[in-house]
Amino acid sequence: SEIQELIELDKKHYLHPTTVPKLFQEKGPKIIFQEGKGIRVTDVKGDTYIDGVSMLWNVNLGHGNEELAKAAYDQLSTIAYSSSFYSYSNPNAVRLAQKVVSVAPGDLCAIFYTSGGSESNDTAFKLARFYWNLKGRQTKKKIISITRSYHGATVSAGSATGIEAFHNFAGSRDIDIINARGHVTNCELGDKTDSNYEGCIRDTIEKVGAENIAAVILEPIQGAGGVHVSPDGYLKAVKDLCKANEILLIADEVICGFGRTGQWFGVDNWDVVPDIMSVAKGITSGYAQLGGVLVNKEIRDTLNEHDQILGHGFTYSGHPTACAVALKNLEIIERDNLIGNAKNMELVLKNGFDYLANKHKHFAKPRAIGLLAGFDLQADPDTDTPFEQSIRAAAFVVEHCFNNKLILRAADFEEGKNIVAIAPPLIINKEEVEEIISIVDDALTAFEKTL
Ligand code: PLP
Repeated sequence: SEIQELIELDKKHYLHPTTVPKLFQEKGPKIIFQEGKGIRVTDVKGDTYIDGVSMLWNVNLGHGNEELAKAAYDQLSTIAYSSSFYSYSNPNAVRLAQKVVSVAPGDLCAIFYTSGGSESNDTAFKLARFYWNLKGRQTKKKIISITRSYHGATVSAGSATGIEAFHNFAGSRDIDIINARGHVTNCELGDKTDSNYEGCIRDTIEKVGAENIAAVILEPIQGAGGVHVSPDGYLKAVKDLCKANEILLIADEVICGFGRTGQWFGVDNWDVVPDIMSVAKGITSGYAQLGGVLVNKEIRDTLNEHDQILGHGFTYSGHPTACAVALKNLEIIERDNLIGNAKNMELVLKNGFDYLANKHKHFAKPRAIGLLAGFDLQADPDTDTPFEQSIRAAAFVVEHCFNNKLILRAADFEEGKNIVAIAPPLIINKEEVEEIISIVDDALTAFEKTL
């Protein structure tokens, strides 16, 4: 059959991201997507699934949005692509820059376009180093990132990624990137008497020397590392620490940006203004490949004061079609109040989590901020005791949900960690959130029977 042919060709010619190629040869693709509408996607066999994580946390408007398709079509048939090198420009890139800056926090005032999140973070690191160079501070090169962060897959962004599993493939590292051991969930900024002090951001700054550090990069809410929400006060404390040490703060808003957390940006949940902000994913809801890096007025002014070339750029920087899609996407987010919807659906999710917590004794640490949500599975939540390594609780639950036509995501990179992530499209309604909870409920019941 055609499906069988696709499977065989896939195995033969297609190397997939984050797969074990050897296993892929045995099993083939898990699902071959064919089409989508709203929060649902249908595969080539005709089975329909709820997309409970918006694919890769990016399809915020849901699937099959015809307004976005039309925006792309209109631009493709006018002029699909034009360059933004050599001072060339295009109306969509300009209008989008104005729009993004208008919703961005504080004095972030200009954007550099990329084609995705990894490129955005690499660009952010280069811009931070370039800025200090222009300031005559050539030694300020190092970038600090933290444990369980995910910043992308290019050499620098991959080096900043604090999930060890992603380092195996690296080959080599950006030697000016330091993965601080500290983590948002364990007293990152603690004082010297705290057992976690060793390796936290402050300790790293003291050891490496602020004169050698260009920037600290953080996700306001860590996504791939397991949906870890920054504790209240944490981002502000990091910002103050950076400021006191003349270090730039880069917020990686690749997942959090554009309404995912019930605010325009993740940092808005704590009113913190970073110096640099990386965006991608939700800027187009995944309908086109686009990312960007926003910089504050001080950085913008410093660039403007010098006559040095900004020697960096991508063929698809400011891609007119991608920017057309982004403009329409942001227009719809505002028009349909999807940020408000994310906030309202957070409450529905939390109600569901309360129900699950009462019913299932291994359900632990539920969290939701807007529609970025997750929970842990633990042997004993009361004593914070993980399952032993052989019990792959998150993988089981995600697989069970998949078999019941709900796509979720497990974060179980670390020994004993069993986290399930939920991040549906921002267009989801109450009944659909409840449908997700009900499928998870069944999966948890099934999991308990295996113990
Ligand atoms: N930063 C964060 C927080 C991400 O979640 C991701 C991707 O998942 C990236 C950066 C990398 O983005 P991309 O895969 O578009 O290069």
